[in-house]
Amino acid sequence: MSFAASVLTLYPEMFPGALGLSLAGRALEAGTWSLEAIQIRDFATDRHRTVDDTPAGGGAGMVMRADVLARAIDHASPPGDGRPRLLMSPRGKPLTQARVRELAAGPGAVILCGRFEGVDQRLIEARGLEEVSVGDFILSGGEPAALVLLDAVVRLLPGVMGNAVSGEEESFENGLLEHPHYTRPQEFEGRPIPDVLISGNHKKIAEWRRAEAEKLTRERRPDLLGADPPR
Ligand code: SAH
Repeated sequence: MSFAASVLTLYPEMFPGALGLSLAGRALEAGTWSLEAIQIRDFATDRHRTVDDTPAGGGAGMVMRADVLARAIDHASPPGDGRPRLLMSPRGKPLTQARVRELAAGPGAVILCGRFEGVDQRLIEARGLEEVSVGDFILSGGEPAALVLLDAVVRLLPGVMGNAVSGEEESFENGLLEHPHYTRPQEFEGRPIPDVLISGNHKKIAEWRRAEAEKLTRERRPDLLGADPPR
């Protein structure tokens, strides 16, 4: 069964976007995954197809309405749909490779993209949305975040990556950042490729890569090793 993504958005034209090209695009054409971009505005009921309103309690910006979003979600994900319902949100749990792997092993995802100040809290609770963040910064909408999440998931689907081994050695897969890479030319602007990598000694090469990965992780991301994150 292929991975089915339903994305709820005010900008369906943003999909598949970058995911229509390269690995993800070929997999989409091959039917390894499917993508449905649903226009939230189609679930508004007034003449102006309004999806947002002013925040209760006052303040700047607009908030996406719970009733309109609930209709859109119930259409995309009727009762019995086993797919997780995600809300892209800077307040969510930061996305990890572990969560990406879980999603890739499942039937798909229903993904709600916020706009404006975000969505009415009651919608999040009533539809059991899992808030997912792609990092500690603010995007103008959830669409680029959804594209990021789907890109990470799709490349893990069976048959998408040519060389399956390369996925297992990637950064985060073993709790470490990946070792540095080199390729020809043998010397670039006076910098040679490290000797060990052209030694042909596979055991030494593996040891060197492991040591470099650990060094890099200690320097850049001690939090991955269980220490406090860098400030
Ligand atoms: N007022 C909100 C930010 C709204 S940004 C706050 O301060 O928390 C508008 C929309 O962009 C959000 O509803 C969300 O869907 C999306 N978005 C912004 N930053 C994001 C991030 N880091 N990760 C995932 N989605 C994000």
